[in-house]
Amino acid sequence: MNKKLIIFDMDGTIYLGNDLIDGAKETFSFLKKNNIDYVFFTNNSSHDLEFYYSKMKAFGIECDLEKNFYSSSEVTISYLLEKGAKDIFVIGNKSLKNKFSKHFNLIDEYSKDIKIDAVIAGFSTELVYKELMDACLFLETRDIPFIATNGDYRCPIEDKLFIPDCGGMCEWIRLCTGKKALVLGKPNAEIVDYLAKVFKVNKEEVLVVGDRLYTDVLVGVNAKVDTVCVLSGESTQEDVDAYEAKPTYTIESIKSLPDLLI
Ligand SMILES: [Mg+2]
Repeated sequence: MNKKLIIFDMDGTIYLGNDLIDGAKETFSFLKKNNIDYVFFTNNSSHDLEFYYSKMKAFGIECDLEKNFYSSSEVTISYLLEKGAKDIFVIGNKSLKNKFSKHFNLIDEYSKDIKIDAVIAGFSTELVYKELMDACLFLETRDIPFIATNGDYRCPIEDKLFIPDCGGMCEWIRLCTGKKALVLGKPNAEIVDYLAKVFKVNKEEVLVVGDRLYTDVLVGVNAKVDTVCVLSGESTQEDVDAYEAKPTYTIESIKSLPDLLI
């Protein structure tokens, strides 16, 4: 396989919560040695990129904050700027709100007459009921875009457990308002096209590696690039067999990735 850029998922692919997956460090040494570029792309918008950078550094994985880390919130910001949005309501952690506040005016709460251009939902571990209520009221009373930074229903943590993620929260809002979120994180193919351009590689030279079928594998399938599904996170072999969009390869974990690349 002649790959020059690998787009990695992190949660469930490189680590589970605070546990590094066995063999991950050696896999990244292999990539370095063989001049294969890699980026860490996360749909998790509850942390800023510095958080992931520090985490990878602490695990002993060679990386650079500017070069190697991307998240769905950057993609969402560039989309909103393109659309000319100014006033927005954001459900998300403080770090996500700070990031958006550098580009937009953040509306604090619902009111009948206030001008608003979009409702944004990100993965929020600081979620309170009033945020959901205000988002629903905005969407019920206005015809404005509802955008999600990711569509993941749940996020894997230690001991094979899961916590609610952005997609699950958006489903709640959809059931209440009838409005479906436009997801700008994985599996939106634009991410792959964008990264291929940044790294100046052809799409045949790009590989997507992740543990989730409906985000990581699907983003690769949507972008028509090769994919690897690792069974170290959310998906099992049974899930892969049952899923319509098949990964190009399925492996137990990131540990055996070098075998595919040789
Ligand atoms: Mg994952």
